[in-house]
Amino acid sequence: MLWIAVVLLLLVPTAAGRLLLDLAGGLLLALLAIPLILSGLGWIGWKLLQSRMVSCNACGATGLKGTGVCAVCGTPYANAGETAGSAAASSTPASDLTIDVIAQDVDSDS
Ligand SMILES: [Zn+2]
Repeated sequence: MLWIAVVLLLLVPTAAGRLLLDLAGGLLLALLAIPLILSGLGWIGWKLLQSRMVSCNACGATGLKGTGVCAVCGTPYANAGETAGSAAASSTPASDLTIDVIAQDVDSDS
């Protein structure tokens, strides 16, 4: 009985039938869009996680970059020295850096 009523509503071009069709279309769009949005969010999350992950040179196990040492074999990660070096470089006071200013004559003819 309910299905007959629904089919009648869909077949008869009434406002209620159109409303039902719009509702069905909206639901269908939502059902199609939700997996896409979820997969997109999952991909972004995975990329963020991947940027924080580092693989061990000794055993090949993946671990978090923040720990600095492999959780499996205890070997320090190779890029730990790189980050320390870059930190030391960035800690150089700005006053130590020299900026070369070269005075150039502007050609007045041009
Ligand atoms: Zn390891």
